Amino acid sequence: MLTDTFQRKHTYLRISLTDNCNLRCFYCMPEEDYAFMPQRQLMQADEIEKLAALFVANGVNKIRLTGGEPLVRKDAADIIRSLGKLGVELTMTTNGTRIHHFVDDLVAAGIRSVNISLDTLQEDKFSILTRRNQYQVVKDNIQLLLDRGFTVKVNVVVVKGLNDNEILDFIDWTKHTPIHVRFIEFMPFDGNQWKSDKLVTWKEILEIAHTRYEIEALANDPHDTCKKYRADDHQGSFAVISTMSAPFCGSCNRIRLTADGKIKNCLFSEEETDLLTALRNGQEVLPLIEQSILSKHKELGGQFSKDFTSIDTTHLHNRSMIAIGG
Ligand code: SAM
Ligand code: SF4
Repeated sequence: MLTDTFQRKHTYLRISLTDNCNLRCFYCMPEEDYAFMPQRQLMQADEIEKLAALFVANGVNKIRLTGGEPLVRKDAADIIRSLGKLGVELTMTTNGTRIHHFVDDLVAAGIRSVNISLDTLQEDKFSILTRRNQYQVVKDNIQLLLDRGFTVKVNVVVVKGLNDNEILDFIDWTKHTPIHVRFIEFMPFDGNQWKSDKLVTWKEILEIAHTRYEIEALANDPHDTCKKYRADDHQGSFAVISTMSAPFCGSCNRIRLTADGKIKNCLFSEEETDLLTALRNGQEVLPLIEQSILSKHKELGGQFSKDFTSIDTTHLHNRSMIAIGG
């Protein structure tokens, strides 16, 4: 079991398949001319399988595929199907634009739940936020997943002045549709123009929700990063991921593997451990993983305090989100 010095057991691995993407969300990929990693620098399919199997042999029981956009990778279907054989819970976070090409692979791999990112229910705004015009494809693919029996969670990064006026529209959507909307507090990463006054907090989101609905708090699982709620008698639910205003580091069970094969023991960690080079050199990888876990900071990668209003982004050392794998 991969246990850190704070007795947190790391059972949940998030693997980034690529830092490439077909959208350009400003909070994630800051520059239009961002240079994607060269192919040879990325983990190859067999390397992903080997590393994933090693994590599973050491207690990981859940794997999430992410990116960049995992489904722009040419061999994504092969990777999904092979990881499906590891016998652990497999899931994915995607922007939803290419789901229709992969839905059978997801079923074959035993994936039952997919997180789709969609920050607005307005087509024009989608084009502004992502710099690409794919709104209807994403909406259709959410329906496709529901029709095929998947659990669908919709990730919404809430940014003040951009989409906070749509919080009630998203909750309305859960009335007759069994989706689970997850409002995510806007987080600071390299070059993403984060400012504390652009953040809409968990409490503010709840206050807005209360202006229209009776809100019932739902039970949370021990490692949940979100607080779950149901509005009135809606079929679906909503949740808030309060990373900035109420971090959940104490119960963290996550490890991240970047597309170039480096472990980040925290989303906000500056330190990285290179597993891919060791694997390619025939060195033992497990001691590197264990060492990385043991060096995990207590909170927020050791980079900032719980008072998000005091964060000075010029002092943060991290990749942009697209290169980490959210
Ligand atoms: N391309 C896929 C997608 O968009 O779902 C997967 C990768 S994306 C980096 C994973 C998640 O991170 C998405 O839900 C995205 O909205 C979220 N994300 C990216 N940048 C963020 C930020 N600055 N603050 C909060 N969430 C962010
Ligand atoms: Fe691409 Fe996802 Fe980042 Fe948007 S959030 S730029 S879809 S990786």
